[in-house]
Order: sequence, then C-alpha cells, then structure tokens
Amino acid sequence: MITTEELYKHYLKNPVISTDTRNISEGCIFFALKGDNFNANEFAEQAIEKGASFVVIDEDNFAVSSKCLVVNDVLSTLQDLARHHRKQLNIPVIGLTGSNGKTTSKELINAVLAERYKTFATFGNLNNHIGVPLSILSITDDAEIAIIEMGANHQKEIELLCTIAQPTHGIITNVGMAHLDGFGGFEGVKKGKAELYSYLKKINGYTFINRNNDFLLEMSAAAGLTKLIYYGTENGNTIKGSLKSSDPFIEVDWTNHDDSTSVKTNLTGSYNFENILAAICIGDFFDMEAEEINRGLANYQPKNNRSQLTKTERNTVICDFYNANPSSMSAALTNISTLTADKKIAILGDMFELGPESETQHQLIAEQAFNSDLDEIIFIGKYFYAFKKSSKGTFFETPAEAANYLKANKITDALVLLKGSRGMKLESLLEYL
Ligand code: ATP
Ligand code: MG
Repeated sequence: MITTEELYKHYLKNPVISTDTRNISEGCIFFALKGDNFNANEFAEQAIEKGASFVVIDEDNFAVSSKCLVVNDVLSTLQDLARHHRKQLNIPVIGLTGSNGKTTSKELINAVLAERYKTFATFGNLNNHIGVPLSILSITDDAEIAIIEMGANHQKEIELLCTIAQPTHGIITNVGMAHLDGFGGFEGVKKGKAELYSYLKKINGYTFINRNNDFLLEMSAAAGLTKLIYYGTENGNTIKGSLKSSDPFIEVDWTNHDDSTSVKTNLTGSYNFENILAAICIGDFFDMEAEEINRGLANYQPKNNRSQLTKTERNTVICDFYNANPSSMSAALTNISTLTADKKIAILGDMFELGPESETQHQLIAEQAFNSDLDEIIFIGKYFYAFKKSSKGTFFETPAEAANYLKANKITDALVLLKGSRGMKLESLLEYL
C-alpha cells in the first residue's frame, strides 16, 4: 500500500487533483471518492484513459493497471495528503468558520490581503471534509497567506478540518440558527463552531473576534483564548468601526491605532458590516495600510448571489438566494426594512435543515415579515405554506407555482428581496422579475 510520502512525491510532479472524471487534466491524480449515490472506483479506468497519471482507489477489483494506487480509504488518504502538504507550507493560514457570512468574509479578507500579498483563498464554497483538503492541495508554494473556509453541520467536523488546514489564525464570523438539526440546537452550534477556538488555543494561534458578539466572547473565554484581536463598534478595539450608510450599499467609517478613514463598498445588506470589519481587522493585523485595505474592499464586486443588488428590466432585486437560515433570513428582512424604496416586496423560500425547530423558525420569520413595512410578501415552500391561513401574504408550495403567479402578476418598480435555502433554487424566479 502506498504511503502518504510516496503519494506526495507523485503529487509534487504535477500538483493537480481531480475527484470528477468530467474534470480530468493530463497528469492529474484522480481520487475515487464514494458518495451516497456513487462509487468513483468504478471510474478508475475512465480516469486513466482521460489522462490521469494515477488513480487512488480503495477497492482492489478496480485496479486495472499499475497506475491504480490501492489504499484503505480514499477520503482519508486525500485528507492525509492535504495534511502533509499543509505541513510543508510555512505560511499563515486563516481558518474561518461561523453560521453566516463565511464565504462573504473569506472573499472580503482575500480582496484586502491580495492588495499586498500573494494569497490563496478557498474557491467558491469548497468548505467541507472534501473541499478543505482540495483547497489545501491547491495552495502553491508561492502563496504567502491562505484563507480557508470551514463549514460544518455536525459536531467534530471543524475539529477534523482544523487538523487538515492547521490554521495559525482563526475567525468565527458569528453563531446563529443554522444547521440546527445536525448540530442539535443552538447550544450545539456554539459547541461545534468553538472547535476552531479549541484548536487555536492548543497551537497558541491568533483569533480575530467581534467584540459586539456576546456569544463569541463567551466561547472564546470558555476556550481560554488569550491571543485575541478585537473588532467592533466600541472604543478599545484594535479596529473600531461604524456603519455610515447601508442604503443600498455599505459604507463604513473605521479607525485603527493611527488612521481614521472611510470606505464605500459594493455590498448591500447591513449584516455585511461585521464581515467588512473582520476583513479590515485582518488586513490591519497583517501590517497593511488603511489605503490598501480600503482599495481591496472598494474594488470587491459580489458576483455570487449573496447580498448582490441587481437591476432587472422592471425592478431592483436583492439577489440573496444562495442560501438561507433563520438568522440570515431575519437579517435580510431587517435590512430591507431600512432601505429606501417606493415599493418593497419579499419573496421568501423555505429554510432547510432545521429539524424539530423547523415549524417555529418558519413561523418566527413569517411573523417578522408580516410585521415589517413590506408591500407584498410571497412565501414559497411547504414549511411556509403551513401559515397560509394568515391574512397577509401570498403562498405557493413550489417555485414553479410562484413563477406562474409572477408571469400573470408582473411586479414593477419595486425593490425585491429574493431569498431561500439552496434547495429552493429561487434563482429560477429572477427571469420573472
Ligand atoms: P454557507 O454555509 O452556505 O457556506 P456562508 O456562511 O458562507 O454560507 P455566505 O455565503 O457568505 O455565508 O452568505 C450567505 C448569506 O448569509 C448571505 O447572502 C446573507 O444573506 C447572510 N449573511 C452574510 N453575512 C451575514 C452576517 N454577518 N450575519 C447574518 N447573515 C449574514
Ligand atoms: Mg460559504
């Protein structure tokens, strides 16, 4: 059986990994992972035909040539290889987790740091037990700093991801009502996310922390963290900021030890204020000038359907349909209520992975929406549908039914919030707005 060191020698010759036969480049190493509905061992031969230099498999009956490297378990071999690669990289790695705003913060931190450093940041949302090792294995030896997003929906997942990414610095963006089912309620979310703090304590790493967030303060104290760098709205923080404007784009005033400055971003959504402060704090920590930090932030254009303000033919749409959970849904509703517009409409899709709290959480969001100054609310999905008897709101069980309604009842000249869980695929409605 091949050792990690031997496999690493192959990797160094052409450090490209593939886990998908539709995506094979000449000379890459193909890892034959298994999922609920597939066994990539079956594609070993195809991967070789398409040009993979080696395929890593864990079922020896698929070993069709000497290019097949048989291991006990493909996934743990991939993770071990990433651990090994990480150890060779002598650079700061910023590990980032939290219930909301991970990808946005990662992008912002990267936008800032890239003004000064050669950075690597997780591509897209590759933040799980496969995505994190793939991210680490994509770090080239010219990188000076890496930002790695770590996602989880169960206990012990962040702990595992920390052993792979081996962060030297870390940040939990926030803890909220997300993945309640897998984590076992909100206390479970805090415990699961705090695994990053425990890791940072063990290695004596630095932690960036939002001092306005009592949950994070409590968790960092419980973990016994001492190397803390604070950001927030009060005096006494390394970075102190205030929200200058959020209508519709976020502008932030901020100060560090010697500068007082202001930055205008292309992000909408007042909840992004804390994500922006985090990026400022990290840029400042890594010795960047205020001017460089502001340039990185001002030039960042969201393109990922998170907090993206889009002008359609007839309306302005807050494209926030990448995902949703009760915390981010609530923040989005609060945000639209602060924006100036003659007509405001929210199109809200179901939120998934909430387990036994599902009904209550949908009810709370529905009530928040009913109590806000929205001119129209369209609810989509079976969880929201349960509140159909309410006097307000238009309800549909599926996005297709909502699409028919929108075709017949054209919305015009409105500010529209479009938000729901990934599985609701609310992007399908954009063409009717
Ligand atoms: P995922 O779990 O899918 O990786 P994420 O944590 O990476 O999500 P983002 O993709 O950055 O989060 O943002 C998703 C949505 O969460 C945004 O579109 C926005 O609605 C909301 N959001 C972003 N930042 C915050 C925040 N600081 N507080 C509350 N909600 C936020
Ligand atoms: Mg993400």
